[in-house]
Amino acid sequence: MATTPGPTRWLFGDQLGPHFLGDTGSPGDDGEQPVVLIESRKVFTRRRFHRQKAHLILSAMRHRAAELGDRCTYLRTDTYAEGLAKLPKKALPLSVCSPTSRQAEDFVRSLDGSGDLPAVEVLPARGYATPREDFRRWADGTKQLLMEDFYRRARRAHDVLMDGAEPVGGQWNLDHENREPPPKGADDLGLPHPWMPEEDEIDEEVRADLDRWEADGDVSFVGRDGPRAFAASRAEALAALDDFVDHRLPAFGPHEDAILEGDEWMAHSMLSAPMNLGLLDPLECVDRAERAYRDGDAPLASVEGYVRQLIGWRDYIWHVYWYAGSDYTRRNALEAHEPLPPWFWDLDADAVEARCLSHALRGVRDRGWVHHIPRLMVLGNYALQRGWDPEELTRWFQRSFVDGYDWVMAANVVGMSQHADGGLMATKPYASGGAYINRMSDHCRGRRYKPTVRVGEDACPFTAGYWWFLDRNAKRLEGNFRMKRALDGRHRLKDLEDLVVQERERGSDAP
Ligand SMILES: Cc1cc2nc3c(=O)[nH]c(=O)nc-3n(C[C@H](O)[C@H](O)[C@H](O)COP(=O)(O)OP(=O)(O)OC[C@H]3O[C@@H](n4cnc5c(N)ncnc54)[C@H](O)[C@@H]3O)c2cc1C
Ligand code: SF4
Repeated sequence: MATTPGPTRWLFGDQLGPHFLGDTGSPGDDGEQPVVLIESRKVFTRRRFHRQKAHLILSAMRHRAAELGDRCTYLRTDTYAEGLAKLPKKALPLSVCSPTSRQAEDFVRSLDGSGDLPAVEVLPARGYATPREDFRRWADGTKQLLMEDFYRRARRAHDVLMDGAEPVGGQWNLDHENREPPPKGADDLGLPHPWMPEEDEIDEEVRADLDRWEADGDVSFVGRDGPRAFAASRAEALAALDDFVDHRLPAFGPHEDAILEGDEWMAHSMLSAPMNLGLLDPLECVDRAERAYRDGDAPLASVEGYVRQLIGWRDYIWHVYWYAGSDYTRRNALEAHEPLPPWFWDLDADAVEARCLSHALRGVRDRGWVHHIPRLMVLGNYALQRGWDPEELTRWFQRSFVDGYDWVMAANVVGMSQHADGGLMATKPYASGGAYINRMSDHCRGRRYKPTVRVGEDACPFTAGYWWFLDRNAKRLEGNFRMKRALDGRHRLKDLEDLVVQERERGSDAP
């Protein structure tokens, strides 16, 4: 039974699902609660976002307002403070679920009614599987923040893929069955084209607004506009989830890490964007995936792989953002200070000859999305090898990706991809040469560069860049026993000196 409406709920643009309403976030608990949504223009003027990301966020907020109808007060203002100051008395008192960035959290916590702005009651965060205090308790009591340990606790706590006290199938992690190279000779995985939204009049209005703002010189965007590819409403997000579970989840595991140029989505869910908008709760996705396994519709390796991404990795990344402290994003353990080059900022894929890098940049330019491996092993790997500043790179990822938010950047970019935290997230840097990309993709075949060549016209910039990275960082990494073999290996290269000269010269130029 629905409860009586509580205080008006102020929803941020990434809190758009039903679980951000009501006292508990359970379905049917919102009691027709009134809602305030504030569309702040300043968010878009402060940063140069990907055009499709700005579109997705505005479209999702406006779709939510349309769904809520008279229950929603929708304000378009420059700042949140301006919006709050404009609220009519009948919209008060206000409550909000703890927002997803430190800046926004500090702001809502400062609202105690003492100035011109109304007081706001701040509730615990929603939209993640493990509560913040549980993570803190676990992290305070453990030496190393091992994701695998955290993940097993979450499996137990939420009773996911469990047979009593034991994991279904007897193993917690089936990674060894996943992460295969792409099928030999294939252009794609042969899966049906994924679900895509149909744009409506709200999208039309958003597009016209963005065109106008841009023409007025108020905002500027990066990346290309294109038909919206990600869910912007609850109904669309549920349709996308159904489509993923029915058609892609069974193939999710084996080719999770593979790249094929002819298959931009592979078997990935494309649900990070709607989930980060708050349109889906990770536990409902996990529940759908587990049901597919129990009904015999998807193999355990794929389902376990997907479940681990959600209640393992996604939650872990969220918690590290809060746990590691506000200076985490400024860490720079490898003292990487090179600025990001203009071609990278501008997503200028056509300026790049290295096929893997131009393909990944093209994906970002045209869709604001590429899957995990191009992010980590192509884009992030290249930045790491070139010594680009991790804080700048963090800004780049956040602006360029449709699913990029403050909380998801810290551990993924600063920690996992750039090793700038000195090893809190990963025991060794994710640096690798062309051999990995060659094994996991179809990029290298018949192209200008050769993954096995280190020096000369054909030298693969990733392979040469890998050795240059090791040589440059040898002192900083020598205490890391997992890097010993690689560091020793460079002494066996007869062409190391020439390679270093060559890569210094290439520097941050488009390869
Ligand atoms: C350098 C770098 C930057 C990244 N930036 C983002 C980002 O801005 N936003 C974002 O949501 N993810 C980010 N990721 C994680 C991951 O690449 C994306 O979540 C994933 O590619 C999104 O596509 P998908 O929904 O099809 O994912 P799938 O492959 O279908 O994975 C399932 C789900 O798991 C979750 N997930 C898995 N790994 C992570 C992770 N490391 N962090 C957070 N969620 C995870 C996502 O919600 C995703 O939808 C980043 C990873 C790296 C290495
Ligand atoms: S040869 Fe090197 S640069 Fe070219 S696609 Fe392969 S890994 Fe990338």
